[in-house]
Amino acid sequence: MGITTKAALLNKAYDIFLVERNLECGPDEVIVKNHLIGICGSDKTFYRGQMPPQTAEFRQKPEFPFRLGHESGGTVVEVGAKVREYKVGDQVIAFGWNNNLAEYFKAKEWELQAVPEGLDPDLAALGEPVSCAMYSGMNSGVQLGDTVVVMGGGFAGQIIAQCAKQKGAEKVIVVDVLEGKLDLAKKLGADIVINSTQQDAAQLIAELTKGQGADVVVEVAGSQESINMCTKVLRHNGKFVWYSWITQPVTLDISRWHDDGIEFINTCLVHHSWRERFVWTPKTLRPVLQGLIDIKSLITHEFKLEQISKAFDLVDKDDTAIKVILRP
Ligand SMILES: [Zn+2]
Repeated sequence: MGITTKAALLNKAYDIFLVERNLECGPDEVIVKNHLIGICGSDKTFYRGQMPPQTAEFRQKPEFPFRLGHESGGTVVEVGAKVREYKVGDQVIAFGWNNNLAEYFKAKEWELQAVPEGLDPDLAALGEPVSCAMYSGMNSGVQLGDTVVVMGGGFAGQIIAQCAKQKGAEKVIVVDVLEGKLDLAKKLGADIVINSTQQDAAQLIAELTKGQGADVVVEVAGSQESINMCTKVLRHNGKFVWYSWITQPVTLDISRWHDDGIEFINTCLVHHSWRERFVWTPKTLRPVLQGLIDIKSLITHEFKLEQISKAFDLVDKDDTAIKVILRP
């Protein structure tokens, strides 16, 4: 019995394909038919063979072969006898690594979240990455009149930059190395965009802030250079907002963290307890539902689930891709 699904298997670096899996619904489990699946920046690093150290977050060992996928959502098709929160037909968002890059996936009740009424199904299925970035944007400590630097114009960076603008920042500066991402940031409301391969970002930000530095920096690029640049462009007592997941050791120049009394805010929704997530997800999705934040423009590529290797090849080679989705 159970449901047979095609699901992604990351066999080794640069080698991903679909395998058949049988999902048996346990008494406390829910089986969900995916509406769509997103490819996360972290999926890309896994694909490139950069496996992170194991932490409490992991439900399977971070080693090859790895059952990839965590960004998805869809319709409940089966519930176990002890499940109280959901019934067949409910729309849910996945929160967790449950081999979601598949037609169907299986999860515990607490690994799911109900879709807010009226939310576009495409956006609902991307509820996890959207909520995580929105949580960061909403908790970044941005105040009316601030100059905010968002280091990295990927999916989360574009959302966080829009949030900063909506929260009353006077200047939102997006820094990236790719023109396509910067053009999009501009289109979505960033005041200034800086291509750090062509311009001296630190010098420009110093000029733009009369030598003071930015009030808030948000690190969303996930590299050593980016963290060091964030440290450099922040004002005395500024807020350093942390978002990225950097899985490899890096070398940092952190003297200013001490000397300039930098305040750190670690913002990613999924790293709080699931009880907090229950409270926060509807709050983070409300501005999306209200149309205050443009998410649709961030979906740059779409594939059929069967084209999984092609999709990952694109994600690996085309850095202008922002959110790549797969449809079962
Ligand atoms: Zn993710």
